[in-house]
Amino acid sequence: MSDDIRVALVNQAFVPPGMVIGETGAHLPSLGLLMLASAIEEADAGMKGSVAYFDEEHLGIDGCKQAVIDWLGPAKTGLVMLTTYTMTHHRQEMFIRAMQAHGFLCLAGGPHVTMHPNESSADAVVLGEGVSAMRSLFPWPGFLPRGVPGMRYKEVDRLGNESWTGAERPLRQLLPSMWPSPSFAYHLVPSGIVHRASRKRDLGGRAPMSIVLSKGCPSACHFCTSGAQNGPWAVGHVERFQMDLEHLLKHTKAEAIEFHDDDLFSHPDVEKVFDVMKNTGLPWTCYTRANPLQGDSGRRLARLAREAGCKRVFLGLESMNNDRLEMLGKKANACMNREAVLNLHHADVEVSAAWIIGLPEDTPAILEEELTTFLGLPLYCLDVNILNINPGSVFSKKVITGRMQPSCGSEIESAEDLLPDPERYGDQEPWGQPTLCAHMSKVELNTFAEHARRRINRELLPMNNKLRQHKGVPFDDFRSALLEEISERR
Ligand code: SF4
Repeated sequence: MSDDIRVALVNQAFVPPGMVIGETGAHLPSLGLLMLASAIEEADAGMKGSVAYFDEEHLGIDGCKQAVIDWLGPAKTGLVMLTTYTMTHHRQEMFIRAMQAHGFLCLAGGPHVTMHPNESSADAVVLGEGVSAMRSLFPWPGFLPRGVPGMRYKEVDRLGNESWTGAERPLRQLLPSMWPSPSFAYHLVPSGIVHRASRKRDLGGRAPMSIVLSKGCPSACHFCTSGAQNGPWAVGHVERFQMDLEHLLKHTKAEAIEFHDDDLFSHPDVEKVFDVMKNTGLPWTCYTRANPLQGDSGRRLARLAREAGCKRVFLGLESMNNDRLEMLGKKANACMNREAVLNLHHADVEVSAAWIIGLPEDTPAILEEELTTFLGLPLYCLDVNILNINPGSVFSKKVITGRMQPSCGSEIESAEDLLPDPERYGDQEPWGQPTLCAHMSKVELNTFAEHARRRINRELLPMNNKLRQHKGVPFDDFRSALLEEISERR
């Protein structure tokens, strides 16, 4: 260990405007930062002991700043790294400025700076994946070298004018086979951190730990940024997953596993992944799409997943209306969505689902009808999200090029016009962003979303009670009686 340089990886709490630290959905380690840590230790074994991981929710806002200052203080160069998200970019900016005041060098990465690299206060930003940058930066040469892959640098001239130079495009080609070993430095996660799953993934309060073995998604939905952020879908070998899982189990007190792959069930060796999970005896949850859950093979996968400890699957169904699904760029229709839910349900795997409202042609009547269709499915829970224009998504490109119009009529000329701006676009969901619905204003969409969430809470409770009582019974055998009972309560 040398004190020429120390690295502080800061997992900032995800606290969107209007929310409070500690009260947001989930609290999990940053796999992205843990991969960077592993890449640094692999590139320069002498860095072991000079890389530390800080968790803002665990330490508190001021406590986290102070812990980083105390850690980096004795080193000749203190390097702070953190991840930026559009909804919480203002918080990353505040943290970076506080660290720069102490003379530390700040590097930012993540989805926000990848799309808006010149918006950051950091000294340099990494566009796309950061492992290649770490492999180039370490062993540390004593200064921040130019020409690091994916890195963009803030230059300040003698008059204080700022400009940016360096990488123009994000790096997205790092295949899972090129990740460091172990993929994630779980050994750096301090033991006292209390992680928690979001409601849709919570397994009876068990301490969750996340893992991922692929990058990207086989689909390219029009509202999603997975492709822009991760590039083409690529999966890791089961051997790597097994090694990473062993590392996770050795260094954390995980009581449940959360897979963060966009579509775990499409992994070509998913049955081997299930075998590995079965041997751990731990319950787990994952994301997948409706596509791999069709027909006999879908039924088989659902059953094998359940036997391997899968308790709940999150399906981004997004709609039960074929026109709306097509508009969203989903590669599944309403029948496929229903079949995927039923196959999981029949295998005794709970289903969390998501629904997007606020498409250009949505009306209250269309949405109410679709909500009724959703609530006729055996779901554990259903998230309601108002369509937002994520940077890098197909929808954002259409809005920027004038092929889609925001409902507020605002002139959109560049990606910067879509940066969160509550004064321009209002502070309701999606915070500081325009909506695209021609027939419902942002206020009306929020009112509908509140109504829908109330209805979901009211109707999914009896649904879940009945599902528990009828374990193993085909849903269609008791569906009519159940829906009649629910409609009487409406
Ligand atoms: S299936 Fe999910 S992760 Fe994949 S592109 Fe669509 S929304 Fe994104």
